[in-house]
Amino acid sequence: MDRGGFEAFATGAGRRALSVLASAQAAWKRWREDRACRRHAIPDVLWQLTLARYPFLSWRSADELGRVRHLATLFLAQKEFSGAHGLVVSDEMAVAVAAQAALLILNLDGGLDLYAGFVGIVLHSDAVMVAREVMDEDGVVHEYDEELAGEAMQGGPVMLSWQDVEAASEDSGQANWAYNVTIHEFAHVIDMVDGRADGVPPLADRREHARWGQVMTAAYTDFCTQVDAHQRTSIDPYAANSIEEFFAVSVETFYVQPLELQREAPSVYRLLADYFHEDPARHAGS
Ligand SMILES: [Zn+2]
Repeated sequence: MDRGGFEAFATGAGRRALSVLASAQAAWKRWREDRACRRHAIPDVLWQLTLARYPFLSWRSADELGRVRHLATLFLAQKEFSGAHGLVVSDEMAVAVAAQAALLILNLDGGLDLYAGFVGIVLHSDAVMVAREVMDEDGVVHEYDEELAGEAMQGGPVMLSWQDVEAASEDSGQANWAYNVTIHEFAHVIDMVDGRADGVPPLADRREHARWGQVMTAAYTDFCTQVDAHQRTSIDPYAANSIEEFFAVSVETFYVQPLELQREAPSVYRLLADYFHEDPARHAGS
């Protein structure tokens, strides 16, 4: 056997060994997922209740809802919920958060891996006041209190006010702006997967980065001009705080009031539709 033949044989054997290893790993992953699904199965009644509360979930096909439920179940298996100041986290609360977190990653390649950077989810009964400090250009430190309905930090945990999570379940058709703190905070989590909170989620290549930067920067500049001029906007004016808030609020609007986002910022709607592989405006109002 010449050298080339031996190398070909070794390469072939190596490939076979790798493929055996990959299928063993896939089988192991499936077994762990099946076990997690059995242990953390969401009861039918609770699942139906969750769907009824969040209208942007309920219009989906049985196949999509099955996948959302599967991801939500695995999410419940992987994450640790805790209640602050004596709040008891019920199954209803945990499933409400898990289902909405699952919706965001439903058609994303990274799936649950996008949430691998944190484990804890802390629920507060209501919004939390936190002391903040900011230094101005003259080096003077200003202290102020900020009311938080939710917060996502690099490495976690994710903090959510249950009262605000619940508020998003009410019919938002009459509200001025989409409001969904759960989707908002998990959009921040996805933004931070690459280690930066800059309003840019993980993207495939430079071309996608270029398009993202172009669309979001132009839309954010227009939006800030509208807010400064006190014009009425479909996107919550809170989004004018920074481009990363503009991203998180746009994602909220995309899922909860997609027709409004499509009308007001069509380029952002198309960008998010391509990114999340979703077209919620097609179903809205039907
Ligand atoms: Zn935010």
